[in-house]
Amino acid sequence: MSANYDDERHNLILMLEELDHRLTTITNDVRHTDETMEKNSEKIATQNENNEVQDFLGNSARVEIAAIKQAIARIDASEYTHCKTCGETIHPERLKAVPFLTQCTKCAYLAEKH
Ligand SMILES: [Zn+2]
Repeated sequence: MSANYDDERHNLILMLEELDHRLTTITNDVRHTDETMEKNSEKIATQNENNEVQDFLGNSARVEIAAIKQAIARIDASEYTHCKTCGETIHPERLKAVPFLTQCTKCAYLAEKH
C-alpha cells in the first residue's frame, strides 16, 4: 500500500502561509517600535522588553517554518512517517496532532531528556 499524504501536505502548506504572515506582522511591529523609540529611559526599557518578546516570537515562528518545510520535504521523499533518528514508524495519531514531527515517541522522549 502506498501512503498518500496530500491532505497533510496541504495542511502544512497552509500552516506555512499562516506563519509567514505572522512573521511579517512581527517584523513590521519591531520596525515600528524602533522608529517610535523615545528618549525616556523607562519607555526604552519597556520597548526593549517588547522587542525581546517579538524576537522570541519571530524565532519560534522561524523554527516552526523550518520544521514544516522539513515535513513537506519528508512527504515528498516518502519519509514522512519514518523517525529521522531510528527509522521506526511515527504513530499516525501523533502526526495528526503535530504534523511536523520528525521523531517517534521513544526518540522524542530521549531527545528531551538530554
Ligand atoms: Zn525513533
